[in-house]
Amino acid sequence: MRTAQKDQLEIELEIFESQKEKLGLAAERSNLIDTHAHLQWPAFDKDREEVIERAFATGLSAIVNVGYDLNASRQAVQIANNHKNIYVVVGIHPHNAKTMTASVLDSLRELAQNTKVVAIGEIGLDYHRDLSPRARQKEAFEQQILLAKELDLPIVVHDREAHNDVLEVIRSFGKDVNGVLHCFSGDLDMAKKVIELDYSISIAGPVTFPNARILHQLVQHVPDESIVLETDCPFLTPQSRRGERNEPMYVLETAKRVAELKGMQLDELDKLTSQNSKRMFQID
Ligand SMILES: [Zn+2]
Ligand SMILES: [Zn+2]
Repeated sequence: MRTAQKDQLEIELEIFESQKEKLGLAAERSNLIDTHAHLQWPAFDKDREEVIERAFATGLSAIVNVGYDLNASRQAVQIANNHKNIYVVVGIHPHNAKTMTASVLDSLRELAQNTKVVAIGEIGLDYHRDLSPRARQKEAFEQQILLAKELDLPIVVHDREAHNDVLEVIRSFGKDVNGVLHCFSGDLDMAKKVIELDYSISIAGPVTFPNARILHQLVQHVPDESIVLETDCPFLTPQSRRGERNEPMYVLETAKRVAELKGMQLDELDKLTSQNSKRMFQID
């Protein structure tokens, strides 16, 4: 390693050490998995490699990097090809559903042949921003669930203010397909319904917000084997750094809050969520 690079990493690790107390992290290395990151986002263009290095240096054992359009899915595969413990999810986000064509679907199918691809996503419905017409969103969602079924892969679902329709779509596929509802924003009743269909519930940074009472109650009631953790970086930064760019190593703050809510030790939660993630994405 060149001296300049080494110095940079050492500086970053020092910064992390000094923040560790603030984050309230256990002294021992963790084994956490960030099940939903967007490392290909332009916010990481200047320091992507440092962000990745820092995540693994601080104890993450894997990162699942998620596509949102065809180009981002391609970039995610490229990043994963260069990093042993980074996995990929390829798919078209509901915002970009209007870009879905037969040839885009074929390209996703081709990309999914890469051994690092562990799911199809993120796919779903977003009625908050409505950036693609709702009918196109639904069509792209269903086409990609069919693709996942064909390839025997789980799905990563994005649901914003579209709970009933998301539930209806995934229900129509029964237990043929399963996966995860990322950054889960439904209530406990919806959580129970999707868990029954073999879906996991992914908890992101907002659980660290003091006023997120519904989410806090949800975490306390969701079965242990159905919870996984994520950052959704560069978005949804946990409380202690709210307003700043999020990155995979901050999944630790989310883990700490979830452990607290569930009355578990951090290392216990760490082990549990890591096992859940590995089982869902079939990562060893
Ligand atoms: Zn999303
Ligand atoms: Zn996302």
